[in-house]
Amino acid sequence: MRRLRWLELTPSYACNNRCVGCFSVIENSPTMSPRETMANLAHGRNQGADCLWIGGGEPTLRRELFAVAREARRMGYTRVKLQTNGMMLAYPEYVRKCVEAGITEVNLAIKGATADTHDALTRTPGCHALVLQAMAACRAQGLALEADVLVYKRNAGEIPAMVRAYTPLGIERYNLWMLSTSDDASPEVRDEAPRIADVMPFIVEAMDLGLSARADFITSLHTPACTVPASHRACLFSASALDLLVTNPGGHRFRLETSPLEGGLYPEGCASCSLRDRCGGVRADYAKLHGTLEFKPV
Ligand code: SF4
Repeated sequence: MRRLRWLELTPSYACNNRCVGCFSVIENSPTMSPRETMANLAHGRNQGADCLWIGGGEPTLRRELFAVAREARRMGYTRVKLQTNGMMLAYPEYVRKCVEAGITEVNLAIKGATADTHDALTRTPGCHALVLQAMAACRAQGLALEADVLVYKRNAGEIPAMVRAYTPLGIERYNLWMLSTSDDASPEVRDEAPRIADVMPFIVEAMDLGLSARADFITSLHTPACTVPASHRACLFSASALDLLVTNPGGHRFRLETSPLEGGLYPEGCASCSLRDRCGGVRADYAKLHGTLEFKPV
Protein backbone atom coordinates (compact mmCIF):
# COMPACT_ATOMS: atom_id res chain seq x y z
CA MET A 1 0.00 0.00 0.00
CA ARG A 2 1.25 3.54 -0.80
CA ARG A 3 2.52 5.60 2.10
CA LEU A 4 0.21 8.22 3.50
CA ARG A 5 0.76 11.96 3.28
CA TRP A 6 -2.45 13.13 4.96
CA LEU A 7 -4.46 11.81 7.88
CA GLU A 8 -8.02 13.14 8.09
CA LEU A 9 -9.57 13.08 11.52
CA THR A 10 -13.34 13.38 12.08
CA PRO A 11 -13.74 14.00 15.82
CA SER A 12 -17.55 14.00 15.48
CA TYR A 13 -20.30 14.80 12.98
CA ALA A 14 -21.93 17.48 15.15
CA CYS A 15 -22.21 20.93 13.60
CA ASN A 16 -23.69 24.31 14.47
CA ASN A 17 -24.69 25.03 10.85
CA ARG A 18 -27.62 23.29 9.17
CA CYS A 19 -26.39 23.34 5.58
CA VAL A 20 -28.71 22.16 2.83
CA GLY A 21 -27.74 18.60 1.91
CA CYS A 22 -25.23 18.04 4.72
CA PHE A 23 -25.17 14.75 6.63
CA SER A 24 -23.94 16.36 9.86
CA VAL A 25 -26.26 16.25 12.83
CA ILE A 26 -27.21 18.33 15.83
CA GLU A 27 -27.42 15.81 18.64
CA ASN A 28 -26.22 12.32 19.47
CA SER A 29 -23.40 12.39 16.94
CA PRO A 30 -20.95 9.50 17.15
CA THR A 31 -17.79 10.92 18.71
CA MET A 32 -14.19 9.79 18.57
CA SER A 33 -12.87 8.95 22.03
CA PRO A 34 -9.53 10.46 23.16
CA ARG A 35 -7.96 7.00 22.98
CA GLU A 36 -9.22 6.46 19.43
CA THR A 37 -8.02 9.92 18.40
CA MET A 38 -4.51 9.24 19.69
CA ALA A 39 -4.47 5.80 18.06
CA ASN A 40 -5.44 7.35 14.72
CA LEU A 41 -2.78 10.04 15.02
CA ALA A 42 -0.14 7.40 15.78
CA HIS A 43 -1.37 5.18 12.93
CA GLY A 44 -1.08 8.08 10.50
CA ARG A 45 2.48 8.82 11.53
CA ASN A 46 3.39 5.12 11.32
CA GLN A 47 2.06 5.05 7.76
CA GLY A 48 4.11 8.10 6.77
CA ALA A 49 1.57 10.94 7.17
CA ASP A 50 3.01 14.28 8.23
CA CYS A 51 -0.07 16.38 7.39
CA LEU A 52 -3.19 16.32 9.57
CA TRP A 53 -6.62 17.45 8.41
CA ILE A 54 -9.13 17.98 11.22
CA GLY A 55 -12.68 18.05 9.88
CA GLY A 56 -16.14 16.93 10.92
CA GLY A 57 -18.88 17.96 11.56
CA GLU A 58 -17.57 21.17 13.00
CA PRO A 59 -14.26 20.61 14.80
CA THR A 60 -14.34 23.92 16.69
CA LEU A 61 -17.20 22.48 18.77
CA ARG A 62 -14.73 20.01 20.27
CA ARG A 63 -13.10 21.07 23.53
CA GLU A 64 -10.12 18.82 22.85
CA LEU A 65 -9.26 20.49 19.52
CA PHE A 66 -6.24 22.39 20.80
CA ALA A 67 -4.90 19.38 22.72
CA VAL A 68 -5.21 17.25 19.58
CA ALA A 69 -3.39 19.81 17.45
CA ARG A 70 -0.65 20.12 20.08
CA GLU A 71 -0.21 16.37 20.29
CA ALA A 72 -0.14 16.07 16.51
CA ARG A 73 2.67 18.60 16.26
CA ARG A 74 4.55 16.82 19.06
CA MET A 75 4.25 13.57 17.09
CA GLY A 76 5.78 15.19 14.02
CA TYR A 77 2.86 16.40 11.91
CA THR A 78 4.26 19.50 10.21
CA ARG A 79 0.94 20.76 8.83
CA VAL A 80 -2.33 20.83 10.77
CA LYS A 81 -5.31 21.94 8.74
CA LEU A 82 -8.61 22.96 10.32
CA GLN A 83 -11.65 22.49 8.09
CA THR A 84 -14.37 24.65 9.57
CA ASN A 85 -17.51 26.68 8.98
CA GLY A 86 -15.43 29.56 10.33
CA MET A 87 -17.85 30.95 12.88
CA MET A 88 -15.63 30.43 15.93
CA LEU A 89 -12.68 31.89 14.07
CA ALA A 90 -14.43 35.25 13.98
CA TYR A 91 -12.98 35.70 17.47
CA PRO A 92 -9.29 36.74 17.34
CA GLU A 93 -8.64 35.20 20.76
CA TYR A 94 -9.83 31.83 19.48
CA VAL A 95 -7.60 32.16 16.41
CA ARG A 96 -4.67 32.98 18.68
CA LYS A 97 -5.29 29.71 20.56
CA CYS A 98 -5.40 27.82 17.24
CA VAL A 99 -2.02 29.24 16.27
CA GLU A 100 -0.52 28.51 19.69
CA ALA A 101 -1.75 24.92 19.48
CA GLY A 102 0.09 24.45 16.19
CA ILE A 103 -2.69 24.74 13.60
CA THR A 104 -1.04 25.97 10.41
CA GLU A 105 -3.91 26.47 7.97
CA VAL A 106 -7.65 26.87 7.75
CA ASN A 107 -10.17 25.73 5.16
CA LEU A 108 -13.30 27.86 5.40
CA ALA A 109 -16.61 26.51 4.11
CA ILE A 110 -18.01 29.17 1.80
CA LYS A 111 -21.37 28.85 0.12
CA GLY A 112 -21.93 32.12 -1.65
CA ALA A 113 -20.59 35.48 -2.73
CA THR A 114 -23.21 37.25 -0.65
CA ALA A 115 -24.68 36.92 2.81
CA ASP A 116 -28.05 36.14 1.23
CA THR A 117 -26.79 33.02 -0.52
CA HIS A 118 -24.34 31.88 2.14
CA ASP A 119 -26.74 32.25 5.06
CA ALA A 120 -29.60 30.63 3.14
CA LEU A 121 -27.52 27.56 2.23
CA THR A 122 -26.04 27.25 5.73
CA ARG A 123 -29.48 27.97 7.20
CA THR A 124 -27.63 30.14 9.73
CA PRO A 125 -28.40 33.86 9.74
CA GLY A 126 -25.27 35.90 10.40
CA CYS A 127 -22.89 33.11 9.37
CA HIS A 128 -21.48 35.04 6.40
CA ALA A 129 -20.58 38.05 8.54
CA LEU A 130 -18.71 35.77 10.95
CA VAL A 131 -16.82 34.09 8.10
CA LEU A 132 -15.67 37.49 6.86
CA GLN A 133 -14.42 38.29 10.37
CA ALA A 134 -12.71 34.88 10.45
CA MET A 135 -10.84 35.67 7.25
CA ALA A 136 -9.54 38.91 8.76
CA ALA A 137 -8.58 37.29 12.06
CA CYS A 138 -6.80 34.33 10.43
CA ARG A 139 -4.97 36.55 8.00
CA ALA A 140 -3.85 38.90 10.78
CA GLN A 141 -2.38 35.95 12.67
CA GLY A 142 -0.62 34.36 9.71
CA LEU A 143 -2.80 31.32 9.07
CA ALA A 144 -2.94 30.12 5.45
CA LEU A 145 -6.51 30.26 4.12
CA GLU A 146 -8.38 28.14 1.60
CA ALA A 147 -12.06 28.00 0.69
CA ASP A 148 -14.07 24.80 0.41
CA VAL A 149 -17.00 25.67 -1.83
CA LEU A 150 -19.84 23.18 -1.96
CA VAL A 151 -21.47 23.80 -5.33
CA TYR A 152 -25.27 23.85 -5.50
CA LYS A 153 -27.51 24.95 -8.37
CA ARG A 154 -28.19 28.06 -6.30
CA ASN A 155 -24.58 29.20 -5.90
CA ALA A 156 -22.90 27.85 -9.05
CA GLY A 157 -23.32 31.16 -10.88
CA GLU A 158 -21.59 32.94 -7.98
CA ILE A 159 -18.30 31.02 -8.30
CA PRO A 160 -16.53 33.83 -10.22
CA ALA A 161 -17.94 36.42 -7.80
CA MET A 162 -16.72 34.38 -4.82
CA VAL A 163 -13.21 34.25 -6.26
CA ARG A 164 -13.31 38.01 -6.95
CA ALA A 165 -14.63 38.82 -3.47
CA TYR A 166 -12.56 36.54 -1.26
CA THR A 167 -9.14 36.46 -2.93
CA PRO A 168 -8.35 40.03 -1.81
CA LEU A 169 -9.43 38.99 1.71
CA GLY A 170 -6.74 36.31 1.89
CA ILE A 171 -8.21 33.15 0.36
CA GLU A 172 -5.30 31.52 -1.48
CA ARG A 173 -7.05 28.52 -3.02
CA TYR A 174 -10.58 27.34 -3.85
CA ASN A 175 -11.67 23.70 -3.67
CA LEU A 176 -14.97 23.18 -5.47
CA TRP A 177 -17.07 20.19 -4.43
CA MET A 178 -20.29 19.18 -6.15
CA LEU A 179 -23.24 18.58 -3.82
CA SER A 180 -23.91 14.87 -3.48
CA THR A 181 -27.24 13.23 -2.76
CA SER A 182 -28.43 9.97 -1.27
CA ASP A 183 -31.48 7.81 -1.88
CA ASP A 184 -33.22 9.36 1.11
CA ALA A 185 -32.31 12.96 0.18
CA SER A 186 -35.19 15.42 0.39
CA PRO A 187 -36.68 16.89 -2.81
CA GLU A 188 -35.04 20.21 -1.84
CA VAL A 189 -31.58 18.61 -1.81
CA ARG A 190 -32.15 16.70 -5.04
CA ASP A 191 -33.31 19.91 -6.69
CA GLU A 192 -30.10 21.66 -5.59
CA ALA A 193 -27.70 19.04 -7.05
CA PRO A 194 -26.25 20.70 -10.16
CA ARG A 195 -25.27 19.17 -13.47
CA ILE A 196 -21.55 19.46 -14.23
CA ALA A 197 -22.32 20.89 -17.67
CA ASP A 198 -24.20 23.77 -16.03
CA VAL A 199 -21.42 24.52 -13.53
CA MET A 200 -18.39 24.24 -15.81
CA PRO A 201 -18.79 27.62 -17.56
CA PHE A 202 -18.59 29.33 -14.16
CA ILE A 203 -15.46 27.35 -13.17
CA VAL A 204 -13.86 28.35 -16.47
CA GLU A 205 -14.86 31.98 -15.92
CA ALA A 206 -13.36 31.95 -12.41
CA MET A 207 -10.10 30.44 -13.67
CA ASP A 208 -9.95 33.01 -16.46
CA LEU A 209 -10.04 35.87 -13.93
CA GLY A 210 -6.32 35.20 -13.55
CA LEU A 211 -6.25 36.30 -9.90
CA SER A 212 -3.45 33.94 -8.90
CA ALA A 213 -0.38 32.42 -10.49
CA ARG A 214 -0.84 29.22 -8.48
CA ALA A 215 -1.47 26.19 -10.70
CA ASP A 216 -3.80 24.83 -8.02
CA PHE A 217 -5.65 28.10 -7.38
CA ILE A 218 -8.99 26.52 -8.29
CA THR A 219 -9.47 22.76 -8.03
CA SER A 220 -12.64 21.01 -9.01
CA LEU A 221 -13.56 17.71 -7.45
CA HIS A 222 -16.15 15.36 -8.92
CA THR A 223 -15.74 16.68 -12.47
CA PRO A 224 -14.00 14.02 -14.58
CA ALA A 225 -11.59 15.29 -17.26
CA CYS A 226 -14.06 14.71 -20.09
CA THR A 227 -16.35 17.36 -18.59
CA VAL A 228 -13.59 20.00 -18.40
CA PRO A 229 -12.32 21.87 -21.49
CA ALA A 230 -8.79 20.71 -22.33
CA SER A 231 -7.58 24.28 -21.84
CA HIS A 232 -8.74 24.29 -18.19
CA ARG A 233 -7.78 20.85 -16.91
CA ALA A 234 -5.37 22.44 -14.42
CA CYS A 235 -8.38 22.47 -12.11
CA LEU A 236 -8.65 18.68 -12.07
CA PHE A 237 -8.21 17.07 -8.71
CA SER A 238 -7.19 13.50 -8.06
CA ALA A 239 -8.31 12.15 -4.68
CA SER A 240 -5.62 9.47 -4.82
CA ALA A 241 -2.89 12.10 -5.25
CA LEU A 242 -3.55 13.33 -1.71
CA ASP A 243 -2.54 9.96 -0.22
CA LEU A 244 -5.13 10.63 2.47
CA LEU A 245 -6.62 8.25 4.99
CA VAL A 246 -10.00 9.22 6.45
CA THR A 247 -10.57 8.20 10.06
CA ASN A 248 -14.11 8.43 11.39
CA PRO A 249 -15.58 7.67 14.85
CA GLY A 250 -16.07 3.99 15.57
CA GLY A 251 -12.84 2.77 13.97
CA HIS A 252 -13.87 3.45 10.38
CA ARG A 253 -10.84 4.10 8.17
CA PHE A 254 -10.61 4.32 4.38
CA ARG A 255 -8.45 5.87 1.68
CA LEU A 256 -10.18 8.92 0.24
CA GLU A 257 -10.20 7.60 -3.33
CA THR A 258 -12.20 4.52 -2.27
CA SER A 259 -15.15 6.64 -1.09
CA PRO A 260 -18.20 6.44 -3.37
CA LEU A 261 -18.48 10.21 -2.82
CA GLU A 262 -15.28 10.68 -4.85
CA GLY A 263 -16.20 8.70 -7.97
CA GLY A 264 -15.61 5.06 -8.78
CA LEU A 265 -18.19 4.53 -11.53
CA TYR A 266 -16.96 4.20 -15.12
CA PRO A 267 -19.69 4.40 -17.79
CA GLU A 268 -19.37 2.11 -20.79
CA GLY A 269 -17.37 4.47 -23.02
CA CYS A 270 -14.67 4.94 -20.38
CA ALA A 271 -12.90 1.76 -21.49
CA SER A 272 -11.67 3.55 -24.61
CA CYS A 273 -10.81 6.85 -22.88
CA SER A 274 -7.17 7.91 -23.02
CA LEU A 275 -7.51 9.41 -19.55
CA ARG A 276 -9.05 6.33 -17.94
CA ASP A 277 -5.93 5.51 -15.90
CA ARG A 278 -5.85 8.98 -14.35
CA CYS A 279 -9.60 9.36 -13.87
CA GLY A 280 -11.34 8.69 -10.57
CA GLY A 281 -14.61 8.08 -12.39
CA VAL A 282 -18.13 9.33 -11.81
CA ARG A 283 -19.99 9.39 -8.51
CA ALA A 284 -22.77 6.80 -8.43
CA ASP A 285 -25.20 9.25 -6.84
CA TYR A 286 -24.52 11.73 -9.65
CA ALA A 287 -25.12 9.08 -12.33
CA LYS A 288 -28.35 8.05 -10.65
CA LEU A 289 -29.65 11.61 -10.62
CA HIS A 290 -28.34 12.99 -13.90
CA GLY A 291 -27.39 9.96 -15.99
CA THR A 292 -24.03 9.43 -17.70
CA LEU A 293 -24.49 11.05 -21.14
CA GLU A 294 -22.12 13.89 -20.19
CA PHE A 295 -19.17 11.50 -19.90
CA LYS A 296 -17.58 10.89 -23.27
CA PRO A 297 -14.19 9.22 -23.83
CA VAL A 298 -11.32 11.63 -24.45
S1 SF4 B 1 -12.58 7.71 -17.94
FE1 SF4 B 1 -14.75 8.15 -18.36
S2 SF4 B 1 -15.38 9.64 -16.84
FE2 SF4 B 1 -13.14 9.60 -16.87
S3 SF4 B 1 -12.54 11.23 -18.27
FE3 SF4 B 1 -12.66 9.36 -19.47
S4 SF4 B 1 -14.78 9.29 -20.27
FE4 SF4 B 1 -14.72 10.79 -18.62
